[in-house]
Amino acid sequence: MALTGLQIQKLLPKTNCRECGSNTCMAFAMKLAAKKAAITECPYASEEAIRVLGAASEPPVRAIALGSDRALILGEETVLYRHEKTFFHQTALAVNINDSDPSVIIEETLKVVRDYRLERVGETFRIDMVAVTHAGRDVDSFASLAEKAWKTTGRPLVLRSDSPAALEAASVAVKGSRSVLSAATPETVEELCNSAKRNDHVLAVTAPDLDGLFQCASKLREAGFHDVLLQFRTSSLAEQFQTNFAVRRASLKDAVKPLGYPFLRFLDHSIDHLEIAAGAITEINKYGGICVLPAFDPALMATLMTLRLNIYTDPQKPIQVEPKVYPIGDPQPDSPVFVTTNFSLTYFTVSGEIENSGTSGWLVVPECEGMSVLTAWAAGKFSGASIAKFVKEVGLENQVSTREIVIPGYVAQISGELEENLPGWKVLVGPQDVADIESFVKTVLSKRTMVNYDVKP
Ligand code: SF4
Repeated sequence: MALTGLQIQKLLPKTNCRECGSNTCMAFAMKLAAKKAAITECPYASEEAIRVLGAASEPPVRAIALGSDRALILGEETVLYRHEKTFFHQTALAVNINDSDPSVIIEETLKVVRDYRLERVGETFRIDMVAVTHAGRDVDSFASLAEKAWKTTGRPLVLRSDSPAALEAASVAVKGSRSVLSAATPETVEELCNSAKRNDHVLAVTAPDLDGLFQCASKLREAGFHDVLLQFRTSSLAEQFQTNFAVRRASLKDAVKPLGYPFLRFLDHSIDHLEIAAGAITEINKYGGICVLPAFDPALMATLMTLRLNIYTDPQKPIQVEPKVYPIGDPQPDSPVFVTTNFSLTYFTVSGEIENSGTSGWLVVPECEGMSVLTAWAAGKFSGASIAKFVKEVGLENQVSTREIVIPGYVAQISGELEENLPGWKVLVGPQDVADIESFVKTVLSKRTMVNYDVKP
């Protein structure tokens, strides 16, 4: 819980010596409360002040870094609902292999994890992790499969076993991968904490109920070990949802520190595809840290990654593309010119439909702060004057020989203003719906004789 300036001032020496750069301890306390200064700037701060203020400034949900480069970050969330601010670190998706699986399945899964790519609105997504489950083979085989999974995919792993000896062996075999050991129970927490510490891994803790989990996580905190994930045991989708929500609420609203860690969830309790999909969607929507899928399913993976992209996009900053003139296909100087806004979804939909129409063209995308067509127009960011200014700035008139520009049908009203600001150009009003671009190209543009629009059948 954040401390007020007055509460902080009570922890300071109150000598007003000014060595921190503030005139009084109270002024310094106010800066600390506003997070504009650090307690280390006061050379006389007591150990007690440093401890209390350090704990108060700790994020409610700890950031956990995974991978040899520590590039996969979980946690560090500060709000319950994305519209309050944004969610920062998206749910990592992992695919499971069992050491008892046939080797052909193991090989195929590792290859998919290594090579899978999904493109959405200009971003490329990959599978984040592999889970390796100890399901019957001996300890050495489990450890060498873990090593193979790491070496093949380069991804951090979730190592799952009920045997501390197996986890220790695998943990040594993949030292340097900064993976997750799953899971420590109240009985094994000390032993596995030492293993995680020695080999620089993260430790998932689990218990039959939340009280047990709280005790386990508290023990690790007291030992100064914070590389922790919480692995709940729930028996239904409703319980999964309630537990995730209740624990995240406790960490964010009530500052329950032992519950302030990211979550780990395995979804292999069912072979029902819909149940697995619903479980994974729940994790993405409600605070999942790592979600382990029982196998690779391309339809489910693409769906989950698309959902995740939406949930973890900053609601105050729409995804945008760079403002510029984009060639679509293989445009020539006399190819048609279209204009739209730089909201990613709009750009990719429009460019895709131009491509589908069988023609090549130029797509002019001015700066519209990532807004869609009507929103940008209403905000004055997509007007005849602003489009004309952009066209001149990028030197489109030197790049193309055509002097016709197609505007979206929803902003037909800017055509006069655009023609006024772009002398020598004719404005054509395109369709309102992007789905009609293809028929617009074929029925309107291709029939025009003044320009050569090379429309492929
Ligand atoms: Fe007070 Fe410390 Fe600043 Fe001195 S350095 S004024 S004691 S807060």
